[in-house]
Amino acid sequence: MIILGIESTAHTFGCGIVTSSGKILANVKSEYVPPSGGIHPREASQHHSLKASSTIKKALEEAKINLNEVDAIAISLGPGLGPCLRTGATIARALALLLDKPLIPVNHCIAHIEIGRLITGEEDPLVVYVSGGNTIVSAFSDGRYRIFGETLDIALGNCLDVFARHLGLQHPGVPKLEAMAEKGRNFIPLPYIVKGQDVSYSGLLTTAIRKIGQFDQFDLSMSLLEVAYGMLAEVAERALAHTEKSSLLLTGGVARSPRLQRILKLVCEEHSAKFYVVSPELAGDNGAMIAWTGYLAFKENVTIPIESSYIKSKWRLDEVEIPWRK
Ligand code: AMP
Ligand code: MG
Repeated sequence: MIILGIESTAHTFGCGIVTSSGKILANVKSEYVPPSGGIHPREASQHHSLKASSTIKKALEEAKINLNEVDAIAISLGPGLGPCLRTGATIARALALLLDKPLIPVNHCIAHIEIGRLITGEEDPLVVYVSGGNTIVSAFSDGRYRIFGETLDIALGNCLDVFARHLGLQHPGVPKLEAMAEKGRNFIPLPYIVKGQDVSYSGLLTTAIRKIGQFDQFDLSMSLLEVAYGMLAEVAERALAHTEKSSLLLTGGVARSPRLQRILKLVCEEHSAKFYVVSPELAGDNGAMIAWTGYLAFKENVTIPIESSYIKSKWRLDEVEIPWRK
């Protein structure tokens, strides 16, 4: 069977088409990049409405299929920005009605995990999911993905992107900050905030921004990354030790960071665990991950009637039953 997935939780409008055997036939995306500052939800949602039809058409062309060959529509209903989610949901509902095919609700965070499992072939890893909007350490246990640590305030990607913008760097901030950090020499102490199994990045960000101008930018970039990644590595390591999982999967937009990959790989080596990372083209938000997770849910009869397919902007991943994993 063929599933078409729609992603629109934040900056990216994506359309992915996958088969029930896990083959990705198409994965087309259009990313909204604000002219300045952060993402304004209404402006991003306008971008999504403008780009939806061309993105979906391009995906169908790439997949070399007609719209009527699609067997079900998967939609990322949350978590995310309300106006962006509503735009994607409206389009997905319209497609499901038009084709008279089932609509499948997908949690965006779970999709980041499932695409990582598909692409690496790793069955049961501890997951470190890091993106512009989320920072979560999670593992499957007893029917659900449980959270073994998360950010108490802003996400890792958001923290680094905002700091990068203060240095005048263009989006995406993380790779540019990493290039700066390569030239850093002196470590500048910054607040390292781990509370139990959770991390907090907002105080770290504020302090780092205040130090711009007082310290060398390369040193500051290096120190910020060192502290931010170090905090995450600490909670990931403890989660690995406690859950006794034999592997770790890094997923989400920031998973493309070679520096973060290096650190987590070292953590894995200490615990004789295998290290896996999602492929770069599937790391950031995309429709293929929604389509694939939609398929996993659909084969367990998870669908949603159009009239109750509300968006859930604060939908936590540990609220979702995972019947496709035993
Ligand atoms: P997502 O929300 O999952 O699409 O991820 C967006 C985040 O990924 C932003 O914080 C970006 O700065 C970050 N990002 C984008 N490209 C890269 C890259 N090549 N390496 C590391 N992080 C990246
Ligand atoms: Mg994401």
